[in-house]
Amino acid sequence: MKSMLSLSVICTLLLVTASSFAGLYGDAPNETHAWQVHDMRRERPAVVAPGKQVGDAPADAIVLFDGSDLSKWEADKREKGVPSKWRIVKGVLESVRGAGYIRTKESFGDCQLHVEWATPIKVQGNSQGRGNSGVFLMGIYEVQVLDCFNNDTYPDGQAGSVYGQYPPLVNVCRGPGEWQSYDIVFRQPRLKDGKLVRPGYLTVMQNGVLVQDHWVLEGPTGHMGRTKLRAHAEKQSFKIQDHGNPVRFRNIWIRELSERSDGGLNGPYTDPKVVKAKRAETAAKIRQEASDASDRLQRVQLLMESLAYEKETDTANRVERMLTRFLGSFKEADQEKVESRKGQIMALRGSIKYLVRNKIVPGDYAPMVGIEALVKKYKLDEKK
Ligand code: MG
Repeated sequence: MKSMLSLSVICTLLLVTASSFAGLYGDAPNETHAWQVHDMRRERPAVVAPGKQVGDAPADAIVLFDGSDLSKWEADKREKGVPSKWRIVKGVLESVRGAGYIRTKESFGDCQLHVEWATPIKVQGNSQGRGNSGVFLMGIYEVQVLDCFNNDTYPDGQAGSVYGQYPPLVNVCRGPGEWQSYDIVFRQPRLKDGKLVRPGYLTVMQNGVLVQDHWVLEGPTGHMGRTKLRAHAEKQSFKIQDHGNPVRFRNIWIRELSERSDGGLNGPYTDPKVVKAKRAETAAKIRQEASDASDRLQRVQLLMESLAYEKETDTANRVERMLTRFLGSFKEADQEKVESRKGQIMALRGSIKYLVRNKIVPGDYAPMVGIEALVKKYKLDEKK
């Protein structure tokens, strides 16, 4: 307990130190990172109230079906606005044979989706004929819904499969009539001029268990054949399949997922252009803070900080001039005067060292040489 307490005190102290030392702290931004490590300038995630229980819609979700009506849905017809013939029975949505797919009126792209489903209590048919439906992300990528409790079928068509592409990692199906859940994370494939610029992914949890682990989509899902990726609109209706079996659905909600504002997706799909733009935006903000600062020392600290995000030549030259002037003011200074400004000198030294360490200024940076000489001459480094 004691050690945990002291650890949290240390962490707090580090944070305070980080923000009061002009924010130069963790490894600097680079081509693929818009922020320093532990950057206090980094945007805070939105605060979202979660649902009461796991599976309940959080505050920022779009509720597609809560048991009351089909106002968010329509029949999957060529024309828009045709009411679906699917039924609501005791607050539960039920697929009606021959009614066709049901689709959302609104269109969605990358998303987190929650849907609960139950295959019929009365077991009829076998293989693909038993409790078949399916949830279709963007209307074309199917995560299969099927009664797979003691019902053998081709594995790439089981419940939890990306239909025709990949079986679920495990079969975690509950029995007929029992409620089950899918929690899906979906990123659509992106093509430009017929070329894949970023794969699409499907991650699926069935009843809280991982059944698809970041599956790379090969194309729209289909029966019997392999498909190729094709370009499509960025947002399309979400659909649920009518496969002739009265499969039931409840508690359907979706959260749209946006791109990272600081780089697109991570890993090899981070976009250096987006990172660069984000860094430039942060640097401009800091330069503005610098020009608003009344204290000259604070101004140079802020301008040095801005260089970590964007090495703008004018700013770099200005910083060097300011530091040279600062160091020059100690030329004939006595020990007492230097001692009285030790805090400022050491703070600037920390920032200069940071810039050198992160190769933002050269290793033989003149102000670095100057400040080290000052520290040595007046023995500022020595503990008293
Ligand atoms: Mg199906």
